[in-house]
Amino acid sequence: MSGKNVTEVVRADAAGIARAARILESGGIVAVPTETVYGLAARADDDAAVAKIYAAKGRPDFNPLIVHVRDEAHARQYADWDEAAATAVQTIWPGPLTVVVPAKPDSGLAKAVTAGLQTLALRCPAHPVMRALLDLIDFPLAAPSANRSGFISPTTAQHVLTSLDGRIDLVLDGGPTKAGVESTILAIRAGGVWEELRPGPVDLDALHGEHFGKGLPAMGDVKAIEAPGQLASHYAPGKPLRLAAATSEADEFHIGFGGVAGNCTLSATGNLAEAAARLYDCLHQAAASDLPRIAAAPIPQTGVGRAINDRLRRAAAPAD
Ligand code: AMP
Ligand code: MG
Repeated sequence: MSGKNVTEVVRADAAGIARAARILESGGIVAVPTETVYGLAARADDDAAVAKIYAAKGRPDFNPLIVHVRDEAHARQYADWDEAAATAVQTIWPGPLTVVVPAKPDSGLAKAVTAGLQTLALRCPAHPVMRALLDLIDFPLAAPSANRSGFISPTTAQHVLTSLDGRIDLVLDGGPTKAGVESTILAIRAGGVWEELRPGPVDLDALHGEHFGKGLPAMGDVKAIEAPGQLASHYAPGKPLRLAAATSEADEFHIGFGGVAGNCTLSATGNLAEAAARLYDCLHQAAASDLPRIAAAPIPQTGVGRAINDRLRRAAAPAD
């Protein structure tokens, strides 16, 4: 916050975006729609601004942030961007793929952005509002999801207010986000070894399967310090969640899919892209419901279904 306790909500039109740019320039924090979920943005080159993200979210300071850039040329200013990185983003940027690459030691980014790691997570977003914003400013934006740490990610401006009202300067309301789950995260290691750190909307196996040698690493193989979004408990709805539930008990809020109707359906037609887009909204509804428990229908483990199952598993894991 910049010394006030009111979170302003404005439409993401030209005037709203210009206002967001001014707040960011002066070190404030703003929730912005992206094609995945709403992000909580601050200028990535300002220690005090980045510190406000951690404070507003209650985010542990060992959990690094994704830096959003205008394009590949912008990415090259902050990271050692080799042939493998260029290949990885080629047909996908702008889009929901984050690449983790070696950071330039003299990048000028706030130290807290990388949480002391030698690597930097970079993404070039596709959402027209985020792109218009990046065009107006001359610094990159650090932006994790715009929710209190560990809780359900926001896919509407209302979700952002549910957890961050009074803790951030502004919400740019651009309507519901489309992809619904956070970006796919790909680490490119020395020697050109590729590793998927988080499944997401981009199906790396389908697009770049040949770069993974023996295929994708097993889920959960990654070190916690490197990708805390992969900690067992995350996206917590605050009540027990039962997985792969084709039927539900009377005291369960049932999240449906395909033939399983439920109290809220991810997709009545069994469409996985639609299911991903609706996942967090259904979880928010389940969290707000009077029913004490949640059950989620089985979701196929293909394409973006892997990302949906990943998030549901972490939402179901009891917090430590
Ligand atoms: P979120 O908080 O939802 O934006 O998720 C950001 C994710 O990016 C977290 O899982 C972070 O751990 C991950 N991340 C950010 N920077 C890095 C990095 N340098 N290396 C590995 N993972 C990163
Ligand atoms: Mg998050």
